[in-house]
Amino acid sequence: MTTIARAAVLRETGKPLVIEEVELEDPRPFEVVVRMESVGVCRTDTHALHEAPPPAILGHEGAGVVEAVGSGVTKVAVGDKVLTTFASCGTCRRCLLAQVAYCERFMELNFSGGRGDGTTAARSAGKPVATHFLGQSCFATHAVVGERSVVPTDPAWDLQPLSPFGCGFQTGAGAVLNNLRPPVGSSIAVCGTGAVGLSAIAAAALAGCEPIVAVDTVASRLETARRFGATETVDATQGDIGEVLGRLVPGGLDYAVDTTGVAAVVASAVGALNTRGTCAIVGAGASSEMVLDWRTVLNGRTVTGVIAGDSVPEVFLPQLVGLHLSGRFPVAELITYFPFDDINKAIDASIRGDVVKPVLTFGS
Ligand SMILES: [Zn+2]
Ligand SMILES: [Zn+2]
Repeated sequence: MTTIARAAVLRETGKPLVIEEVELEDPRPFEVVVRMESVGVCRTDTHALHEAPPPAILGHEGAGVVEAVGSGVTKVAVGDKVLTTFASCGTCRRCLLAQVAYCERFMELNFSGGRGDGTTAARSAGKPVATHFLGQSCFATHAVVGERSVVPTDPAWDLQPLSPFGCGFQTGAGAVLNNLRPPVGSSIAVCGTGAVGLSAIAAAALAGCEPIVAVDTVASRLETARRFGATETVDATQGDIGEVLGRLVPGGLDYAVDTTGVAAVVASAVGALNTRGTCAIVGAGASSEMVLDWRTVLNGRTVTGVIAGDSVPEVFLPQLVGLHLSGRFPVAELITYFPFDDINKAIDASIRGDVVKPVLTFGS
């Protein structure tokens, strides 16, 4: 029985999404159909509006209920609540080393416009529509996703605020907790205080970092950063970031996290590290290159890229949600809800910076 889904389809590059009915294939042996309850809008979606070949269904922060399972699925059953997250193969060297965000098939499974074998799960008027965006394509009432992209949740959990855990929240928190693993008392700066940066700040507070310096150009975001645990804030419009960081942490930072993707900001953050400091870069920027001072890096510093917070989602997401439920990772306050039909308004509000984390909800 095929599923008819209402999907927000990218019909034209850079243009508003068009809500239409699409036909979803039955799940293949190791796939499931998830009926979405909520889905977050993330920076990678807004970039993809200008980059993904249309027609395509974007969306990669889903939370919903399993509605159908393929013949080989053992992990979940119909009726189970799940979060959806990126895809990985499960059999390559990186996957076997529990480094699933660095899966050797990551690009084809997450950014090829389908399952990686040239097939897609959706059709509109008989023509294929790209799916499996970051393994999901959940800007739709339903999505066909691989079994490895679903993370079962506690049946008691309210799914609505949990969708962004599958990308934005785990990306920021995981960069600190899984990759950097700062010892208690480490100094850290987080550049950019959107959903990813604020998640990193909350995680740094959980890890006992001190000081925690938040850097942004928006005063209201810096106020939020203080509530999330930042002990110092730097308004990047008020002068050179590197100089200010140097004044605030004279010995140099132990750690920095860049969420801005701005090459000059990364260079300032790396320059503000102490000689054994590490800067984690968690997002792509507008430019394809960055320039770093040779001797700054040579003298013992580390610059590392981090995808999806180095997370093994099945392990990390329940832990992170647990911290959220106990009030120690208060990211739900970053969410602004929009009805699914207002998806283009939500995207515009996100691009303008009016909201930190838009989450779309589906009427029952
Ligand atoms: Zn793999
Ligand atoms: Zn994302």
